[in-house]
Amino acid sequence: MVRIIQCRAGSIERFQRKVLSSDNGVRLVDILSQSTGCRCVGRALTSLGRRLLSDRTVPNVRKRAPWTATSALSIEKYSLDGVMVDVDTATLAGALGVPVEFPADEPAVARGARLASLADVDALPPPDIARYPVVQVWVEAVRLLCAHFGNEVFIRGNCDQCPFALAALVRGMEGWPTDIMDPELEPFAHHLLDYCTEATSQFLRLMSATGAHMLSNGDSAAGPSVVSPRIYRRFALPYEQRMAALSHSLGVPYALHVCGNTKAILADLVTTGADALELDYKTDVRLAHDLMKDSTVFIGNLDPSAVVALGTPALVEAKSRELIAVFGDTGRFILNAGCAIPATAPEANIRAMVHAARSW
Ligand SMILES: [Zn+2]
Repeated sequence: MVRIIQCRAGSIERFQRKVLSSDNGVRLVDILSQSTGCRCVGRALTSLGRRLLSDRTVPNVRKRAPWTATSALSIEKYSLDGVMVDVDTATLAGALGVPVEFPADEPAVARGARLASLADVDALPPPDIARYPVVQVWVEAVRLLCAHFGNEVFIRGNCDQCPFALAALVRGMEGWPTDIMDPELEPFAHHLLDYCTEATSQFLRLMSATGAHMLSNGDSAAGPSVVSPRIYRRFALPYEQRMAALSHSLGVPYALHVCGNTKAILADLVTTGADALELDYKTDVRLAHDLMKDSTVFIGNLDPSAVVALGTPALVEAKSRELIAVFGDTGRFILNAGCAIPATAPEANIRAMVHAARSW
């Protein structure tokens, strides 16, 4: 039986009004990633994923329940104000026919590519991601969490990859980076991005119907550690803007996650229309503060490995306080790790994060 946690903000309406509009009423809310110190999360997900993919029948709620329960337990165990519901980075790719592996204790990963040549894009069947079992599990998990917690806990329904990162998986990381450098292939690249836009849009629409308080995508393959800012602006930014606009048309705030050091595109990211940017620990928080403080919520950005997984509780608390101090003059801040927290992170370290937020 899961106890309902009182949201620090009092209610989600207050949270949304105060954090997203930043009247300094609420300083922070901690939203942690899917693997928050619970080894069981990864295990439950992957065994569930394997079972579902080998099962031709539509999964029933009993099969979905273990995964939903791990998120609910994280909320209770650590007294979180909110939770980001995320499964892996291979769900949309799998729904589009990319081969996916389900390791025993890790999130699923895409292996190989769907397209041997970018010119084959026009032969792809229309996306219909709602038929893919992992999508059904993911959406149902968020729906069950929203039904259980109502407006007491902030629930962010992540929707896997933005179009650029999804296109990279569909074409494969061996072909995509060179294809997008070839001007003759540019029309095909945009065909594939439009195709992926339809797939991601379907996920956002499905998720918006669950009652989630925020939608989000990741677009790490579009970050400066993978492609140049010029490529980002030409092939990724316009599609990120479309996803943010779609989320808004569905009546839900939108967050965007990008890995690595985002300094070179940080000013562009602010123009996506995303209500929140979740950025990795390599991003300069003072620059982010200055660029985002009047418009966009910053989510992050503790080092998930060196600090949250491998540091001491005292280090986690100190680093959390440093971040809170940087954003202390704005309500547009949510404390989190900059990227997914390894399942090996000690419980004490997660508690140290929450303590730092609670005691500020
Ligand atoms: Zn990341």
